[in-house]
Amino acid sequence: MKRDVIVIGGGVIGLMSAYYLTKSGRKVTIIDEGDITSNTSFGNAGMLSSFDKTPLSYPGVIAQTLKLMAKGESPAQLHFGLDWKLYRWLWKFMRNANETRMKKSMRLFEQYGQRSLDLYEQIISDENLDFDYHHDGLLMVYTEQNSFDLKVSHAQDTNRFEICDVAKTKEYLPSVNDKIKGSVLLKKNAHIDPQKVMEGMKKALKKLGVEFILNTKVTDVEFNNGKVISVITPKDSYEAQTFVMATGYQTLMAKKAKKDLVMTPAKGYSVTFKMPQELKPKMSTLFADMFIAFTPRKDTARITSKLELGTTNPEVVKKQIESIKTNFKRYTIPFEMEEQVEWCGFRPLTPNDMPLIGKDEDYDNLVYATGLGWLGMTFAPSIGESIANIIQKDDKSYKSFSGFYQ
Ligand SMILES: Cc1cc2nc3c(=O)[nH]c(=O)nc-3n(C[C@H](O)[C@H](O)[C@H](O)COP(=O)(O)OP(=O)(O)OC[C@H]3O[C@@H](n4cnc5c(N)ncnc54)[C@H](O)[C@@H]3O)c2cc1C
Repeated sequence: MKRDVIVIGGGVIGLMSAYYLTKSGRKVTIIDEGDITSNTSFGNAGMLSSFDKTPLSYPGVIAQTLKLMAKGESPAQLHFGLDWKLYRWLWKFMRNANETRMKKSMRLFEQYGQRSLDLYEQIISDENLDFDYHHDGLLMVYTEQNSFDLKVSHAQDTNRFEICDVAKTKEYLPSVNDKIKGSVLLKKNAHIDPQKVMEGMKKALKKLGVEFILNTKVTDVEFNNGKVISVITPKDSYEAQTFVMATGYQTLMAKKAKKDLVMTPAKGYSVTFKMPQELKPKMSTLFADMFIAFTPRKDTARITSKLELGTTNPEVVKKQIESIKTNFKRYTIPFEMEEQVEWCGFRPLTPNDMPLIGKDEDYDNLVYATGLGWLGMTFAPSIGESIANIIQKDDKSYKSFSGFYQ
């Protein structure tokens, strides 16, 4: 049986692509090697943070990272090895750390981020879903005076920013201590609970007739005459008109198509716990210098951090969890973190934070939907919509936001 569209990968990008393809009249099947309860799209911070935040490769990033490394507070860690692709990625990352690139990325972040917020609100209303969506800003808390001063110097527009001294910061984040320098509320950002997005989207897609083939890993791909014919799994092979590769940091399909994606897995961790309600952050919060997010959820709170490059070890490494907690506790008052759940996942990270979306050059029924790095939840609806437009309308406007074209 030949299917219509097969999406490989049921992370947030696969689910949103399936949603907009279904809405545009296609019959979609999702294949995932897991059961869609634990991928990167589940345990992340859930910040929808496309406004007024720089890309990871901003001017000065290397000096800042080295300074934090010396203090033992850097989120970044490199496992040096023999993989030349990681060195190539780092070289491109450093080349992108310039003012021109940063400004271009921030313009695109804003454009696609606003579209995503509009689409999140529409999905919530159309499908009657609860994503625990709050459009109440992102509080950037600074532990370094120079980075706080720099942010404040760019934060004069009161429609977009609120500059907070330590006392005001404590109103928004009662658990913070006096060692912080201050904070800036980025008013246009929002947040969701990623688990609710994933569970809600899965439910909505099932209702819309999307087929799920779970616990099934795609291990090979069959090509013929400029087309992908089928994807192969240990038990079966599945033919379709169109294939979408939404496999996050894993790139088997691209490799089979002999495409070398410039993307690296960047491992991150989260700890979810119960805490005193009155100490919970009032909105999503990021300790900007240490890249530690502290986000409120209905019954719990979550801290997430770390950017480990050069590893694909799927285990939660205790040392990394302890390092996150130690750094977090330096800037918070003591409180009990009860019923802790530890988690790790891999960001599909490109060197300039541009996603990899678009058709394969040689196989025009193979479409890539990956490379969302640390912003996958932020852009998921607009990426899903773009994927549907690429397939249905041969739309080209996405090219400005695709790492394949810059
Ligand atoms: C610690 C941390 C915090 C983060 N915080 C935020 C945040 O606050 N805001 C934000 O916007 N983003 C955040 N992110 C990034 C975000 O989580 C990712 O960008 C996003 O989840 C990527 O989604 P995805 O669908 O591309 O990949 P995934 O969620 O990884 O999904 C890919 C799926 O493909 C499947 N798959 C892979 N290979 C195969 C195969 N061969 N066969 C079958 N199935 C396969 C996998 O099982 C998986 O389910 C964070 C990430 C981390 C790690």
